[in-house]
Amino acid sequence: MDAHQRQFSNPFSMDTACTNCAELCETRETIVHGYGDVAAEFLFIGEHPTAAAEETGVPFTGDDAGERLQYILGELGFVRSEPTATEPDIQNAFLTYLTRCRNPDRAPTDNEIDLCEPFLNAEIRMINPQMLVPIGDRALKALAMDYTTTNPDSLSVEETHATTLRGRGFELLPMSELNAQSDADTEAFIKHVMENVFSRDYRQTKGRQSR
Ligand code: SF4
Repeated sequence: MDAHQRQFSNPFSMDTACTNCAELCETRETIVHGYGDVAAEFLFIGEHPTAAAEETGVPFTGDDAGERLQYILGELGFVRSEPTATEPDIQNAFLTYLTRCRNPDRAPTDNEIDLCEPFLNAEIRMINPQMLVPIGDRALKALAMDYTTTNPDSLSVEETHATTLRGRGFELLPMSELNAQSDADTEAFIKHVMENVFSRDYRQTKGRQSR
C-alpha cells in the first residue's frame, strides 16, 4: 500500500449513496467501489459485483469466482492473503467494476454502464496504471472502445484471453469470465503475464520510475 494510503476499500472516498441508476438503487444491497493499491500498475475490471462481493463489500471476493481471481493475484505476487480472504492484503493491483451496483436478475444496461463510467474513469486517472485487465466480454469491449483503436465488435474475450492488446496509454490483458475459466485457462493467463509482461519493461510506455 502507498505510504499515504489509509485504506484499501474505496480509497478515493467515492459516493456511497449514488442514485444515478434508478432501478439499481432499488435492487442493490450496497455500492461496491474499488479496492486496492492506489499506486497500482495493474487494474482489474469486471462488469458488476456478484452477490458475494455485495456481501463482503470487496470486489472479487467471497465466492468461487472471487477465489479464482484471488488465486491468480497470489500467483502473480499481488496478494499475500489466501484466496478465501474477504479483505485481501494487496499490492500493485486494484480491483473494480464497470458498474458498482447489482441487479440480481439482469446484467447492467449500456446506459447504466455509461452512468457509472465517471467512477471508473476517475479511478483510472488517479491510479494511472500500466495494465488494464478487463474480465469478461463486456469489460473488454468497454475498455477497447475507450483505450484502443481496435473496433470493440471485432474482439472476443475467448479469443484474446491471456494475450496482450496494445492500447492508447495502456496495454490490455483480457481475461475470460472467472466462472467460465477452466483451470488450464487460469494457468494460461498466469503464464502469459509471467512470461510476456513481467519479463519486459512494461512501464516504459509511461516512463514511470521503478517501484
Ligand atoms: S451503478 Fe454506478 S452510477 Fe449507477 S447507481 Fe450504482 S454507483 Fe451510481
